[in-house]
Amino acid sequence: MRNDQTDDVVSNDQTDDVVSHGPFIEAAIGEARKGLASGGIPIGSVLVIDGEIVGRGHNKRVQQGSSVLHAEMDCLENAGRLSASDYSRSTLYSTLSPCDMCTGAALLYKIPRVVVGENKTFQGPQRYMQERGVEVTILDNAECVAMMEDFIQARPELWNEDIGE
Ligand SMILES: [Zn+2]
Repeated sequence: MRNDQTDDVVSNDQTDDVVSHGPFIEAAIGEARKGLASGGIPIGSVLVIDGEIVGRGHNKRVQQGSSVLHAEMDCLENAGRLSASDYSRSTLYSTLSPCDMCTGAALLYKIPRVVVGENKTFQGPQRYMQERGVEVTILDNAECVAMMEDFIQARPELWNEDIGE
């Protein structure tokens, strides 16, 4: 429901507006920074249901010698076992465009919305996600781009390994 008379830039609870993504992408960026600080790849993710963060995670391939702990997978794992009805109301935030694996997990659990910090340094199967009915929002967040560009320049071998190259 929309009330045009009370529209203002301060209060905004529309989920499709960039403003309302702010705190959640910031939380994902916080996770990415944690990952970087612990020697890993700076990619972070949060899962949001009904305006609350129910899971958060960051890429832990390096830290845990893991083959599957991309940020989104770590986030979903930390959110724990959820019902289909929970996932159906959820939004997955990631600082970077989700790869094939993480896209697959989002599709498996029928997460209807994916919000991406940036897709300039890497782009996963975004179009496929959209074809499968997922609402994909790209924020073009400068901080997300800068984090990845700095990391890829500093540690190209770790980055290539992360995307299977
Ligand atoms: Zn991934």
